[in-house]
Amino acid sequence: MKKNKQEVTMQQEMTTKTKFSNEVTVQVFDAVMLLRNTNLTALEMVQIISTLEDVVDDLYNALVEAFPQDEMCGDCSFCDGYLEDNVNVPDWAKVEAGIAPDAKLFLCVEEGSGHIMLEPTEYKHDITDIDEDMRMRLVDMGICLGEMNESIMDEEVIYRG
Ligand SMILES: [Zn+2]
Repeated sequence: MKKNKQEVTMQQEMTTKTKFSNEVTVQVFDAVMLLRNTNLTALEMVQIISTLEDVVDDLYNALVEAFPQDEMCGDCSFCDGYLEDNVNVPDWAKVEAGIAPDAKLFLCVEEGSGHIMLEPTEYKHDITDIDEDMRMRLVDMGICLGEMNESIMDEEVIYRG
């Protein structure tokens, strides 16, 4: 019962605050969905931009807090701007090796062997899933990409609320 009451309050708050018109547009992105009036005035557009900027600031701050750079970051290969190149392997080669086409590969070298080996990683994502421009922006904001990479690999939840 309590839950229902909360939902009603939220709906009323949403209607008054957003002043939704009859026509709304839903935009679905990775990990976020935007619900907005379909037709917008210039003022409403600026209000949306301003609100989204607040959300972005909040998320950046949470990342800086979770992965702050420290004096060790000079040696941190990720924060030094150095990242190993992704090795592009054609899908057919992965399939033939019995590896899923979308699997991430880890490069390993046996010293002096004359061979370079690629093995599927045990994790789904890492820092290379973030494009280079964004990675550089994160470093400039004071975020340690090395620490962040560990967290991405562990699929750790770092933000609640
Ligand atoms: Zn670092």
